Amino acid sequence: MALNREPRRLTVLGATGSIGRATLDLIAEAPPGTFVVEALVANGNAEALAAAARRVGARLAVLADDAALPALRSALAGSGIRAEAGPQAVLAAAAIPVDWTMAAIVGAAGLPATMAAAAGGGILSIANKECLVCAGAMLRRVAEAAGTTLLPADSEHNAIFQALDRTAPASVERIVLTASGGPFRDWPAERMRAIRPQDALNHPVWRMGAKVTVDSATMMNKGLEVIEAACLFPVPPDRIEVLVHPEAVVHGIVQYVDGSMLAQMGPPDMRVPIAHTLAWPRRMATATRRLDLASLGRMTFEPPDLERFPALTLARQALAAGGAAPTILNAANEVAVQLFLDGRIDFLGIAALVAAALDRLGAPAAPDLEAVLEADAAARRTALALAAGPAFA
Ligand code: NDP
Repeated sequence: MALNREPRRLTVLGATGSIGRATLDLIAEAPPGTFVVEALVANGNAEALAAAARRVGARLAVLADDAALPALRSALAGSGIRAEAGPQAVLAAAAIPVDWTMAAIVGAAGLPATMAAAAGGGILSIANKECLVCAGAMLRRVAEAAGTTLLPADSEHNAIFQALDRTAPASVERIVLTASGGPFRDWPAERMRAIRPQDALNHPVWRMGAKVTVDSATMMNKGLEVIEAACLFPVPPDRIEVLVHPEAVVHGIVQYVDGSMLAQMGPPDMRVPIAHTLAWPRRMATATRRLDLASLGRMTFEPPDLERFPALTLARQALAAGGAAPTILNAANEVAVQLFLDGRIDFLGIAALVAAALDRLGAPAAPDLEAVLEADAAARRTALALAAGPAFA
C-alpha cells in the first residue's frame, strides 16, 4: 500500500479492546514502514497494553488507571517504550499530533480523549459511537476548526460513508442502517425476561466487547447508531431507516432520489471498515475472509420489532428531544448494561431503566462539554438510584 505520506504516524485509544486489537492486527500485518505507532492507550489492563505496545513497537503506552502504572512499567522493562498513567496522561497522549487516530475507548469515558484527538488535526477514525451520541455536534466543530477529518469506523456508518455522494446531499432520499438483529431476533416476548448475561453475550455474527454486544442484543446499539448517523450525515432522522438483516453482509444503503440504491457489502469483520479508514483516501490489502455470495445464496431483510426492542424508539425520542437527552440515554444505558451483567436487573429492565431516567431528567440544554459531562454524571446517579427503587427490585 502506498499511502499519501509514508509512514503514517498513529495512535490507538482503546488499544486492548476488540476494535483496538483489530486495528493493531492490520498495522502489524502491513508492510514494514507503513505505520509508526506513536501511542497506545487503555484503561487498566497493563499486561495486554504492554504486549500490544511491544508487538507494534509503540513509542508510548498509557493507562487511564494510575494504580496500574507499576505493572505497566515492569511489563515494558527493557523495551524502550515509555509508560505513563492517569487521566491527564491519556489526554496528553491523545493530543500528540499524528496522521491518524483510532477512537475506540468504550463508552462516554472516551469523550475527553476523543475531543483531544479531534483538536489535533489528521484523521480521526471513530468507533466510539457514544462520543458522537453525547457530543457529536461539538466534536464536529472542534474537528473542523483543527482541520481534522472524521471518518466513521462503525461498520454501518462506514458503509454509508462509502456509498454517499457527498457532492450532492440533496440527491439522497434516505439511508438504511442494517442490524443483524442480535441473538434474540426471533425470541417470543415472554421468553425475553429470562435472558441471562451469557445469552446476551453470545452474538450470532459479531465478536465484540461486552458492552456493545449487550447493546446489540437490546438493539440499543442500533438506536445509538441512528443518533450517530444523524450527526455524521446530512439526512434528517425520519429518513434514517433501520432494517434487520440477519446475514450481516450488507452494512448500509444509500437511496437516491432517482430510485437507485447503493449498498456497501463485505464480510462481518471489523477489520474491513477499520482498514478503509486506516488507508483512506486509498485502500489497503487485508487478509480478511472474502464474501462468497454464491454460497451465501440469499439475503433477507425485515423491519425491526419495536415492541420487543423498545430501545430503538427510546433513542429516536432522545434524538428528537435534543439537548442532553442523547447523553442521558447513553449514560443510563451504560449503567443499565453493567447492572444487567452484574445480575442486578433483568434484560427487559435495561430499556425500562433508560426510559425511567429519560422521564426523570428530560432534555436539559447541553451547550458545551462541561454540560454534557454533568448530564452524563447526573444520568448515572439517577439510573443507579432508580435501579435501587421498587420498580427494579
Ligand atoms: P472493548 O470493551 O473490547 O474495549 C474497550 C477498550 O477501551 C479497552 O482497550 C479498554 O481498556 C479501554 N477503556 C475503557 N475505559 C477506558 C478509559 N476510561 N480510559 C481509557 N481506555 C479505556 O470495547 P470494543 O472494542 O468492543 O468497543 C470500543 C468502542 O467501539 C465502543 O464504543 C463500541 O460501541 C464501538 N464499536 C465496537 C465494535 C466492535 O466490533 N467491537 C463495532 C462498532 C463499534 P482495558 O482493556 O484496559 O480495560
